[in-house]
Amino acid sequence: MAESPALHVRRVTCCGCTQQCGLEVEVEDGRVHAVRGAAEHPFSQGYVCPKATDAPEILYHPRRVTTPMKRVGPRGAGHWQAIDWDTALDEIAARIADTTARHGAESLAYAYGTFRGGDWGIGERFLNRHGSPNACGQDKVCYASLTLAETLTYGHGPTVFTWPTPGVTRTVVVWGMRPIASAPLLWRAISRAHRAGARLVVIDPLRTQEARRADQWLAPRPGSDAALAIALLKSLIEQDLHDAEFVARECVGFDDLRAHLAGVDLRALATDCGIALEDIAALARDIAAGPTVLNAGNGLCQSGRPALDTARAIASLIAVSGNLGRAGAHQLAGPPRDLRANGQLLDADHLAPAQRAKRLGAERFPFIGAGYQDVDDAVAAAWHGHRHSQAWIATAHTPSLWRAIELSEPYPVKALVVQHHNPLGANPEAATAARALANPALELLVVQDLFMTPTAALADYLLPASHWLEKPYFSLGIAFVAPVGDFVAANPAAVAPVGEARSDYALWRDLGRRLGQADAWPEREEDFYSQCLAPASLDFATVAAAGMLAGAAARHPDHAADRAPQGHGTPSGRVELASSLLAAWGRSALPEPLAPFSAEDDHNYPLVLTTGGRALEGFHESAQISARFRRRRPHPIARLHPAAAARAGVRDGEWISLHTPHGTVRQVAEFSDAMREDTVVADRWWYPEGDAVAPDPFGVLATNINVCTPGDDRHSDAVLGAWLLRGLPCRVTPAVAP
Ligand code: SF4
Repeated sequence: MAESPALHVRRVTCCGCTQQCGLEVEVEDGRVHAVRGAAEHPFSQGYVCPKATDAPEILYHPRRVTTPMKRVGPRGAGHWQAIDWDTALDEIAARIADTTARHGAESLAYAYGTFRGGDWGIGERFLNRHGSPNACGQDKVCYASLTLAETLTYGHGPTVFTWPTPGVTRTVVVWGMRPIASAPLLWRAISRAHRAGARLVVIDPLRTQEARRADQWLAPRPGSDAALAIALLKSLIEQDLHDAEFVARECVGFDDLRAHLAGVDLRALATDCGIALEDIAALARDIAAGPTVLNAGNGLCQSGRPALDTARAIASLIAVSGNLGRAGAHQLAGPPRDLRANGQLLDADHLAPAQRAKRLGAERFPFIGAGYQDVDDAVAAAWHGHRHSQAWIATAHTPSLWRAIELSEPYPVKALVVQHHNPLGANPEAATAARALANPALELLVVQDLFMTPTAALADYLLPASHWLEKPYFSLGIAFVAPVGDFVAANPAAVAPVGEARSDYALWRDLGRRLGQADAWPEREEDFYSQCLAPASLDFATVAAAGMLAGAAARHPDHAADRAPQGHGTPSGRVELASSLLAAWGRSALPEPLAPFSAEDDHNYPLVLTTGGRALEGFHESAQISARFRRRRPHPIARLHPAAAARAGVRDGEWISLHTPHGTVRQVAEFSDAMREDTVVADRWWYPEGDAVAPDPFGVLATNINVCTPGDDRHSDAVLGAWLLRGLPCRVTPAVAP
């Protein structure tokens, strides 16, 4: 298309989710008119989804926050006054300085979301320099268990995003994942391999779109994946299908693993997960025959107590079946060696060890505490000194944040900055979180976001955030989603920000300059990114002109790709089927078939609850702002089987109450026979158009299923502190609309 003088086409990387597709953005008179896929982009090759094409709706939405606001009156009362940026920043900086002087740097915490336009790492850089260890991410329920399990087992992870190779990969197992909605580029690769003859097996309690296209659908009870993974491992070894040569050459602990599995009752495991013994044995044979790719999803990381053991069993399955490092199967690439250099961006070494030891949850969950250093040392030893590649999963424990605010345990948190994130909707114990954020013991709550959210409604300062099309892009993180290897990408902002919106970088820069970090924050974020590129004699403009550099051109000079790792990044340098670090931390070195809940908890709760499924129209709760999505889904849905509904006396399309041992909310029943009969699937927070007033801003406590999910230690994984979102006992009853 010929461009008119006012019409420009900008090439950008999409930040609508973690896939990083290439886009062409039509800009006319400074406004985005249309977004389409960029055909020549090496990852996405023209792919685009509604999250990207709906970007103009989000950018110019009438409810978008466009000016800084300061609370007047009681917190959450809904009364605000406009404030200019400089005054807001002066006041916020003074209050952070004051709480830090009285309670230590750790009294400042930061909560951030999952890349819905946020710049990963920038806030952590500020905190590391400030001396606070309390950046709270969503990593615990977003691949941390899978990543850590693979790292403990074979020295780096994750490999579970490996794209299958058409014509080479013979089996693809999609497990606890909806790639059509959450990882479309991976799904495209899976579909190509399937068309080329690979057998496709989907493991999910729901007969998803992916399951309908699969050769086989296995439907385990939600939360029973540890039982299924260990059953597959036991079956594979008992059928003598393990790769003996790989095990002898690369692994330690195989005899311990085999002895451990000998004590496990395969029939009991099959009953626990509801999968027939012959299906377990047949899938074990397919995996062993290989090449096999196991694409495991973050559904497995959301089962709380068994999450890490589930992932450890899967990592062991990949290794002993000979599918690690084999063509067409899982590739162990090691830490990204590209120029974004995580440790440098995060300034991770600025945080003193004594402050790091105070990270919320460190005293209870070994990987949040001293265990992080053990893992980092082992990875660095094998991967030529590359540090902090696991930093993104070693963040502070969010449920512990609420206790620190309310009870000052283990010490008080007095100031909290939330960016691109709504903890009241996304985290467990929503009622506890709401109480903590409204508590006067929290002296300062700052939220920077695109829209007013339930969390923002409780803020002292609400600051307008730039959309990802309104700020420069640099490939800051999540390179693990790119199976193309090392790359670095950059682009300028496509358009100027609406109103007074500012980038994440600008907030931390301006706070940093007021709080003694002036040397760390160049004026322009492009210049900051250029500092990251300088070791390779590159700068932001050069990379942006190319759009993307891949392979050798993108590599940090300290991490040349042609240097093979020195063994595996574990303490032994081998694939550790029995983990020496888990044993050193006082945890089981071998995967255990744990369950999310104990049997006595199931009393009175005949159903099993799973939560948090993804829609293609949005990244987590961002779909709810889309008019197109809301026409299709006006209310939060609790999906359940007609037989279960009949037993509970509830009717299709009517409001029901969902009860767990932790709370009750209401949603609209939707019947489906494409799922297990004992399962109910419930939505999270739903109503961004609601009333932003405490005590229940936007109805977040009336209909959000995270009122019913626990964040306590008893239901959390004992190494990472991953909390429980899937596999809870549940019952439903008829209700009226809230
Ligand atoms: S899948 Fe959609 S939202 Fe995600 S990066 Fe690609 S176009 Fe953007």
